[in-house]
Amino acid sequence: MKNEIIEIRWHGRGGQGAVTSAELTAMAAIHEGKFAQAFPSFGPERRGAPVLAFNRIRYDRPVRERSGITLPDVVVVLDPGLVTLIDVTEGLKPGGTLIVNSTRSVEDLQQNFDGDWKLAVVDAGSIARKLLGVNIVNTTMLGALIKATGLIKFESLHEPLEERFGARAKSNFEACKLAAENTVLSQITTGGLKTRRSFAVEKLAKWQELPIGCVVKEAGNTRSFCTGDWKSQHPEWDDKKCIKCGICYIYCPEGCIKQQKDGFFRADMFFCKGCGICAQECWTQAISMVEEA
Ligand code: SF4
Ligand code: SF4
Repeated sequence: MKNEIIEIRWHGRGGQGAVTSAELTAMAAIHEGKFAQAFPSFGPERRGAPVLAFNRIRYDRPVRERSGITLPDVVVVLDPGLVTLIDVTEGLKPGGTLIVNSTRSVEDLQQNFDGDWKLAVVDAGSIARKLLGVNIVNTTMLGALIKATGLIKFESLHEPLEERFGARAKSNFEACKLAAENTVLSQITTGGLKTRRSFAVEKLAKWQELPIGCVVKEAGNTRSFCTGDWKSQHPEWDDKKCIKCGICYIYCPEGCIKQQKDGFFRADMFFCKGCGICAQECWTQAISMVEEA
């Protein structure tokens, strides 16, 4: 262990703070006298798009490698929706650890995977909403990482959290601790179950595979892509509170909110990315964001 490099891959969506998770992990490791790197890999740089971040941690000497990480020891999934959208276990080493933010039980989630990995599950979204007031789980998932791997210590996070969040460091630390207490580890490796549930995995082209100056398939086809499957939460309207002012319609960055014949508003879930701006801007609190099942 001492001579090894431990590599971590973080899966999240733009705006969820996967890059911050990686940076805080590296800062905590360095605080403990270890050597560490944190770096991101962006795809489309917009809120809701899948993003990756990485860590390398070494105990005894500096990390000189600067290449991408393809065979991680640990994978952390911040967004539950990504589990059925991309293969989050790609390259995960046998004996590695998969940590997922999900409302599903560890037994249920195990059915999705069939490798020799330890699985750790925590409902980080609920903890973040309760203690931080937002569905941003980057610091909360650090608690799950600590519980599942012991790679860093809780105390080592104090300084990085204070540096990053100032007055909000305390609540982020509490979210982290509560997540560790609520993280459930699988008793057997996921490879012990042979009933992998099949699901369609969306294969996205890598940027290297796209033609220069490309428009995917054909011009003007944006509407044919189900960009709504990026979301991990969606808006629900309470028409009793709605005064039909149309503010949500104006502020939706996707332009996916439409007025119905009865005058009330609804979002087209094919395109809604679950950013929550409509709920934030609605001044009668008629919209609440509900986590995807
Ligand atoms: S902003 Fe709120 S009150 Fe106004 S139309 Fe939208 S849901 Fe109704
Ligand atoms: S959450 Fe609201 S503002 Fe955001 S994309 Fe969906 S409908 Fe539009």
